[in-house]
Amino acid sequence: MKIHEYQAKDVLRQYGVAVPKGRVCFSVDEAIAVAQELGGSKWVVKAQIHAGGRGKGGGVKLADSIAEVRSHAGAILGMTLVTHQTGPDGTEVKRLLVEEGVPIKDELYVGIVVDRASQKVVFMASSEGGTEIETVAAITPEKIHKVMIDPGTGLTMDDAQSLAGAIGIPDTLHAESGNIFQGLYQAFWDKDASLAEINPLIVTKDSRIMALDAKINFDENAMYRHPDLQELRDLDEENEDELEASKFGLNYISLDGTIGCLVNGAGLAMATMDIIKLYGASPANFLDVGGGATTEQVTEAFKIMLKNENLKAILVNIFGGIMRCDVIAEGLVNAAKEVSLSVPLVVRLEGTNVDEGRAILTRSGIEVISATTMADAAEKVAAAAGV
Ligand code: GDP
Ligand code: MN
Repeated sequence: MKIHEYQAKDVLRQYGVAVPKGRVCFSVDEAIAVAQELGGSKWVVKAQIHAGGRGKGGGVKLADSIAEVRSHAGAILGMTLVTHQTGPDGTEVKRLLVEEGVPIKDELYVGIVVDRASQKVVFMASSEGGTEIETVAAITPEKIHKVMIDPGTGLTMDDAQSLAGAIGIPDTLHAESGNIFQGLYQAFWDKDASLAEINPLIVTKDSRIMALDAKINFDENAMYRHPDLQELRDLDEENEDELEASKFGLNYISLDGTIGCLVNGAGLAMATMDIIKLYGASPANFLDVGGGATTEQVTEAFKIMLKNENLKAILVNIFGGIMRCDVIAEGLVNAAKEVSLSVPLVVRLEGTNVDEGRAILTRSGIEVISATTMADAAEKVAAAAGV
């Protein structure tokens, strides 16, 4: 689950990380009121969307006067912001963060992720803040310093301070940097985050250190432990189909291909997408209906897939283990009655009660292209979609 920058800063503030003063706004008038309340002579107007790279896309602007705050807020609010993370369609800006402008001396980077290879939490720091860390990793990987964190001890002050030294933070700020790094780590740990990043972390001209930008992603599987974080969800930023699917307990991810996939089991769903690719087509979605899908779930899954204008064919790939093929077949038949199937349907059933399952489909009279192996299914669905 993603949250906005201003929300991530609220979380970090609770852990002792210094952030610029500021507030979220939903209108130009509010933006002006916040700027006036903040006082000073420099402000920053920042688009709040669940994507980075806003600065380059025109979503972060500095203002030297209230009049400029007004014009920037007017320009950014409601704009469709396109960044390397939004995709070409961009995201409409519905919220702004207005902050005090801060005089930057250095832009640094710190971030925490789970490193799957070492199965540990890894703390990364770099002197190359402000730019995309992916670029730094690709071109000058030696400029990224890493510490693997032992969950028993957490990030030690020694490690934190030596990271501060490694990325060029002046000695006088090491103690404070150590606190910030430990605060970031503690927030990551306590909140079950999957990523926590400050880019840039800045040293100001008057030698303060603070988080100028902040990003925190949370592990969805741990959300039941954090009812307070649930409230930070911004449904405007989430994919409508994915949201709808989640209401029915379906694991659904929208993709940009043309083949709808309905599969039981995440591994089989991944393999199904791979083999669709192998046969020259592209999946329109990832969908794992789980081990015990009901007729209602299967019907909803069809409805969601069929809403997609790009859809050219559907592939149902079921391996009946705990899930019986006859149950899935009943579900398909009921779903086909309830929604009108506007595209070809390829079905591959295998496993428990497969003969009964196939018989149900044949008896139903719904038009099904049946397939035996996964390769057969992928070839047939690609052909049906005209790929
Ligand atoms: P992102 O592009 O989505 O990562 O947005 P950021 O919050 O990181 O802002 C992008 C850039 O805007 C930063 O790297 C800074 O260079 C600049 N910026 C943001 N806030 C301030 C500020 O208070 N003062 C100055 N001088 N620059 C700022
Ligand atoms: Mn940033």
